[in-house]
Amino acid sequence: MENVGVMMTTPMSAYLEQQLQQRFTLFKLWESSQSLADSVKAVVGDAKIGADSKLIDSLPRLEIVSTYSVGLDKIDLEKCRERGIRVTNTPDVLTEDVSDLAIGLALATLRKICACHAFVTAGSWKNGDFQLTTKFSGKSIGILGLGRIGSAIAKRAEAFGCTISYHSRTKRQTTNYRYYSNAVDLAANCQILFVASSLTNETQHIVNREVINALGPQGVLVNIGRGALVDEHGLVSALCEGRLGGAGLDVFENEPDVPEPLLELENVVLLPHVGTDTVETSMTMADLVVANLECHFLGKPLLTPVI
Ligand code: NAP
Repeated sequence: MENVGVMMTTPMSAYLEQQLQQRFTLFKLWESSQSLADSVKAVVGDAKIGADSKLIDSLPRLEIVSTYSVGLDKIDLEKCRERGIRVTNTPDVLTEDVSDLAIGLALATLRKICACHAFVTAGSWKNGDFQLTTKFSGKSIGILGLGRIGSAIAKRAEAFGCTISYHSRTKRQTTNYRYYSNAVDLAANCQILFVASSLTNETQHIVNREVINALGPQGVLVNIGRGALVDEHGLVSALCEGRLGGAGLDVFENEPDVPEPLLELENVVLLPHVGTDTVETSMTMADLVVANLECHFLGKPLLTPVI
C-alpha cells in the first residue's frame, strides 16, 4: 500500500500522521503546492477541514474519505454518493470523552469552577469568600439528540440524580426518558439543555431564539455538538440581556473565532473544541482512521462505514 496516495487536509494528530506515513504515500494539503489530482486516492479530514465539493472535484481518483471525527458536517456526502466514494468516521470510540466533558462543562458553568480558580490565583480569597453558586445534582436535563453521545450524557446525569428528557426526530422505544417532539418544548421543560445532535441542513440553528427564551433566565445551555446548531447571535444577546442563565460551550460557529461579548461574561465557560482531545482517544481515533483505509485498499469490509 506504500504507493497509495493519502491526503491529510489539515494538521490533526502527529501520531496519525506518523501511522499514515508508515503505510501510504502521505500528502499534506497545507504544505503541498503541486497538483495532487493524479496521486490522491484517499482523504483524511477532521471536524475543521473535511472534504467539500471543491476538494472532491479536484481529486478524480478519490476512492475514500476517512474522517478523524464522528461528525460528517464537513463532508459533501451527496457528492461522495454520486461519485461512489466511500466514507468512514470514528463513532463510539470518542463517546465517553465527549460526554465526560459535557458533564464537566455543566458542572464548571453552574459551580463556576473556572472563576473559583481565578479567584484563588488572584489572591482574592484573603479578602473574603467566593459567591454562592448553583447546584447540578437533581436538575432536570434536556438532551437535544439522544444518539451515542446524548445517551452517554444521560447515563452520567442519571448518576447525579437528574431527570432526563430529550428531543430527536424519532422517539426511542428503549428508554423511559420523556420525549418532546420539538426543541422548544424540550427547552421549556428542562433546566439544563445539552446539545448533542449532528449538524445537518435541518439542525442548523435548531437552538434558535425561541428555544433559548424557552430555556429562560435560570436555564443553562451546554453545547458539545457543533457551533452552528445554535444561533450564536441569539445566544450572545440572551446571555448579555440576562434572558439565559449561562452557557458551557466547546464549539462555536466560526472556530477559532469566539464572539467578543462572550469573553467578558462571567456566566459562561468556553473551551477550544476539545471534546475528544485526550491522549488515549486521539490515538484510538487515529488507529480507526488507518484501519478503515487499510480495509478499503485490501478489499475488506470497512469497520465503520457511513457510505
Ligand atoms: P449520533 O449517534 O448519530 O447522534 C446524533 C443525534 O442527532 C441522534 O440522536 C439523532 O436522532 C439526532 N438528530 C439528527 N438529526 C436531527 C434532527 N433533524 N432533529 C433532531 N435531532 C436530530 O452521533 P454521536 O456520535 O452521538 O455524535 C453527535 C455529534 O456530536 C456529532 O455529529 C458531532 O457533530 C458532535 N461531536 C462533537 C465533539 C466535540 O469535540 N465537541 C466530538 C464528537 C462529536 P434522530 O436520528 O432520532 O433524529
